[in-house]
Amino acid sequence: MLRLILLGPPGAGKGTQATRIVEKYSIPHISTGDIFRKNIKEGTELGRRAQEYMNKGELVPDDLVIEIAEARLLEEDCKNGYLLDGFPRTVYQAEKFDEFLQEKAAKIDKVIDIEVAAEELKKRIIGRRVCRSCGASYHVDNMPPKKEGVCDVCGGELYQRHDDTAETVDNRISVYNEQTKPLTDYYEKTGRLARVDGAGDTDAVFAAIVSIIGE
Ligand code: AMP
Repeated sequence: MLRLILLGPPGAGKGTQATRIVEKYSIPHISTGDIFRKNIKEGTELGRRAQEYMNKGELVPDDLVIEIAEARLLEEDCKNGYLLDGFPRTVYQAEKFDEFLQEKAAKIDKVIDIEVAAEELKKRIIGRRVCRSCGASYHVDNMPPKKEGVCDVCGGELYQRHDDTAETVDNRISVYNEQTKPLTDYYEKTGRLARVDGAGDTDAVFAAIVSIIGE
C-alpha cells in the first residue's frame, strides 16, 4: 500500500516524475488536470465547466474538483494506493481529502514537494510539449523528443497545452503561490512533507524521490 501526493508549482516536473514513480511502484497516476483535459476532449458537461477556469489559468472550484477526485479514488485500481498529481491544490481540498481518508481509515504516506525557482518555471512551461495519446511530457530545448512533434514512447502527436502560454503562465504561478503553496505548511505540520530540489536533471530528481519513498 502506497499513497503519495506530488506537490510543486506548474513546470516543476510533476508530470515527468509521476510517470516514473507510477512505473516503479506500480500504482495508478491520478491527475485531476488530465481528467479535466479528457473531459474537454470528449465534450462533456464537466469539461465545459472546467475549461472556462483552465483557459484563464485559474483553479476549478473546490467542490467540483473534490467530487471528481474522490470518485476516481474509489475505483478498483486505487485499492492498493495511488499517486496524486495536481490534487489537492488548496487547503480546503486537503482538509476535505483528509476527511475522506479518515472515513476509510486510510492515510497518505508521503507528500513530495518539488521545488524550482520561479524564473526557471516560466521557461519550462512555455517550452513544454505533451503527447496527446499517452500524456508523456517533453521540452523543446531541455528534453526534446527524438523526432520533432512525435512521442518517443507511443508515437502519438505532441502538442502545446492551451494553458502553457506566456499569457496564462504568470497567472498560474501566482495562483500557485497564493492558493497551493500554503499546503506545504499544512502537510509539514502533520509530518508528512518531504522537499525535493527540482533544479537538477530528471534522473537526479527521481533518485531523490526514490530515496524518500524507499525502494
Ligand atoms: P495541471 O494539469 O495539474 O497543471 O492542471 C491544469 C488546470 O486544471 C489547472 O490550472 C486548473 O485550472 C485545473 N485543475 C487541476 N487540478 C485542480 C485542482 N486540484 N483544483 C483546482 N483546479 C485544478
